[in-house]
This record gives sequence, structure tokens and C-alpha cells, in this order.
Amino acid sequence: MSGGVKDYPRTLQRFEDRFATEEACGEHLAFLRWPEGFRCPRCGNQAAWRTAKGLFRCTGCDYKTSVTAGTIFQDSRLPLRIWFRAVWWVTSQKTGSSALSLQRILGLGSYRTAWALLQKLRRAMVRPGRDRLSGRVEVDETYVGGKEAGVYGRKVGKKALVAIAAQEDGKKTGRVRMRLIARASKVNLHGFVLDAVEPGSIVHTDAWPSYEGLGEKGYTHEVTEIKACEQGVDMLPRVHRAASLLKRWMLGTHQGAVSKEHLDYYLDEFVFRFNRRTSRHRGKLFYRLLQNAVAVPPSTYKALVKHVRGRRAARSQDMG
Ligand SMILES: [Zn+2]
Repeated sequence: MSGGVKDYPRTLQRFEDRFATEEACGEHLAFLRWPEGFRCPRCGNQAAWRTAKGLFRCTGCDYKTSVTAGTIFQDSRLPLRIWFRAVWWVTSQKTGSSALSLQRILGLGSYRTAWALLQKLRRAMVRPGRDRLSGRVEVDETYVGGKEAGVYGRKVGKKALVAIAAQEDGKKTGRVRMRLIARASKVNLHGFVLDAVEPGSIVHTDAWPSYEGLGEKGYTHEVTEIKACEQGVDMLPRVHRAASLLKRWMLGTHQGAVSKEHLDYYLDEFVFRFNRRTSRHRGKLFYRLLQNAVAVPPSTYKALVKHVRGRRAARSQDMG
């Protein structure tokens, strides 16, 4: 059996050779899903027979399961080979892919299929149980979307407001986190910081009043007055750089055509790429995305379109 995070194809040719059949793709998913060997989702037993159809039949309780059940691949009519090609394409392109280019490159019958495939992959771009940022972290908000006359300050019109946290890594930027927020209120910004940043960290913001009180929530809150920024020195350079790269990506890869209701998932994709931008091997992203894909539950097309928000529904947001 294959082993470890280093187990990914280095080139397109190796990828093509290795994942040429449904069986090969299925075996790889089985390894990612059960790295220590099969475990029955019903009784936890660790042995199974393989049926003629390639299902796993638990030797303890006879429960039959497939390697894709309970993952983002569940109920998909697309062959695993297509899924694997999509993951390869999406992770090997430095700036990702629009649904239209994915449809063309894979020869998919409809735009809708390509769009849904990408949306499902975006749900796998956040590793369940990932760490929060720590150390010294800059936090700010930015607008995404078309400019609108008369909207200024921190009011949101048709534009979307995105909260950004960026970890310091010496003079460079470490990992980032982003979230769509309805408005720059205390509830939303404190909620974002609590989800994104480990308590005990230093949180550096501007003097916007909604950030007040972070000190009582376990953070060391460092505030820089706007005046200091006006001297020509950017006091929050990491969040601002991440924000401008985000906007460039939205305009470039997606032509700015992202609706507010789906924006959160595009942010997840941006963050997934940004946090791995220095990775020398794109194959690592391929490995990670597939690894997350077998750990994330399925969503139906209806849920993708209507944006029934599983993990986000639980969060309290001040919709103002
Ligand atoms: Zn069982």
C-alpha cells in the first residue's frame, strides 16, 4: 500500500499512469480514508471482505459500505477518474480554475456539472479541525466586489465585507484566515477572531471600536491609530497584501463573477492556496485536497445552490 504525505505524483505523466482506472482511484481513496486499515463506520470493527462490486463488507456486523460513502464523492455520477483529474487540474494551476475552464479541460457535458464539482471541492479545502492562527496576528476587514457610488466607511452596499486575519512570520506573512461578514460589528469581528486566532496570541488591529474588548477574551490587543498609517507606513501590511491578492484573484480567475452567497467558499479556496503558496510541489496540494475530500461529508446540488450552510449555520452572526 502507498504511504504518507510524500505519496503524490510529481508530473502529469505519472498522474495519468497511476490513476488510469476506477480501481486505482478507489484504492488511493481507501488508503487516505483508512490509513491504518479499514474501520467499519457502523461498529468500528477493523476487518472487511471485498464484494464483487468493490464494496467493503464488515466481518463483524455485515454492514456494506463503499470508500466514497459519507465523503464529498458520495452519490456522484462522475467517475472517480474525472474527480481525480479535476483535483489535479485545480491544484496544479497556481490560481485555480473557473468552472468554465474546468468544463472545457475535462470535456464535461454541462457548465452546471463543472460548477457543482468545483463547489464540492471548495468544501474540502478546509481541513476539519484545523489549527487556529497564533503568535502575532493582524486583523482587518476589506470590501470585495464592484465599486458602488455612495458606499464608504464601513457600510456595506452590494459589496461584500470580508474579515481577514494574517499571521506574522518574521517580516513575511504566515497563514491567513478569511470570512464573509454581514457588517463590521463587535459580534461578527469578535466571533471571527475567536474562530481564527488562538487565545494567548497578540491581535493587532486599527482603532475601529468593534475590536474593543478583545483583551477580555484572552488576547493581547494591540491597536494602531489610523493617524499612524497616514504617515505613509502601512501598519497592517500583511492583511492588506492578502486582501489585494484576494481581489486580484477574484477578478482574474473568476472575472469578479462571484455572488455574495457563495463567496465564503471562494474565500476557503483562496486561503487554501495562499497558505500553501510556497509549497515547492503542487502534488502536495493534490494529496491534501483528496485527503480532506474523504473527511468532509457530502452536499447535494440543491444544498450547493441554496447555500444551506452546514458548518457555518452553527455560528452566530450578527446580520444587522
Ligand atoms: Zn461493522
